[in-house]
Amino acid sequence: MIRSMRFEIVTIFPGFFAGIFEHGIVRRAQAEGLVEVGIHDLRGFTHDRHRTVDDRPFGGGEGMVLKPEPLAEALASLGIRNKNERGGSRDPTLAPKKTRKDGARNISGSTKVILLSAQGRPFRQAVARELAKVDRVVLICGRYEGVDERINELYCDMELSIGDYVLSGGELAAAVVVDTVMRLVPGVLGNESSGEFESFGVADAEILSDQEGVPRSQHGAGGLLDYPHYTRPAEFGGLRAPEVLMNGDHLEIRRWRREQQLRKTLANRPDLLVGAELSADDRRLLERIRKEAAS
Ligand code: SAM
Repeated sequence: MIRSMRFEIVTIFPGFFAGIFEHGIVRRAQAEGLVEVGIHDLRGFTHDRHRTVDDRPFGGGEGMVLKPEPLAEALASLGIRNKNERGGSRDPTLAPKKTRKDGARNISGSTKVILLSAQGRPFRQAVARELAKVDRVVLICGRYEGVDERINELYCDMELSIGDYVLSGGELAAAVVVDTVMRLVPGVLGNESSGEFESFGVADAEILSDQEGVPRSQHGAGGLLDYPHYTRPAEFGGLRAPEVLMNGDHLEIRRWRREQQLRKTLANRPDLLVGAELSADDRRLLERIRKEAAS
């Protein structure tokens, strides 16, 4: 049975999303009914002439804060009750809130409410993999100085940051989350396995799509970065694509790609090596690469 996943985005700038989900995989996934995206204008949940969504911060200071009432109404219109209405506890599927080794909190259940925030937990591929399992993700886009914290406390299952920088609004962050999670929904990527063999991907042992008897020329990333890719022409700008990729020896190709993954990760994201799933061969290779670099 085809499963469809729904994203709801609450924003004061609904026009921001015009066109953003109308390209490539995201467009196709919607056309095929695998993913739906609803955009909700926060100003539609105000009751004054000026359609006011913000107010000055208690305690003084710069800027404005998104008021809680319109957000609460917008969430109620999506059938989302606050913690008091749910009987004093947060969504029971979230308790206990365990954080896994890969940074993802165990989440299951049908709807997750997320506040986009520079103060949130880092949004990582592991978090995206977990979110791709739920039926509906509600994304609240902040603006100005942010959102009244009681919305976070009362309604949100998690606060997510897409990186260590401050955006002017949560809309770009919401688009990043939709794009990343949506492509992990089963059936969205043409080739089921292509979500498994990429940067930050799972380790070999967790790869589900191996075909018996078919040699595989890729390794599961196991938390590392992807290897470099090449296509025709074989010669370009005075550089030749690596010979090993053209000889058809899958085992050799696999070995070369793993080495490249290790090299790229060591060069660009050495922090990822700490949590990566490395085999004894990987460790030997890394040692060699490090020695090479030092000499
Ligand atoms: N005062 C906030 C702070 O210093 O953390 C920054 C508010 S920012 C100007 C306005 C909104 O942009 C935030 O409420 C949030 O929704 C969004 N935003 C900014 N940076 C973000 C990030 N790194 N990840 C996700 N959302 C972000």
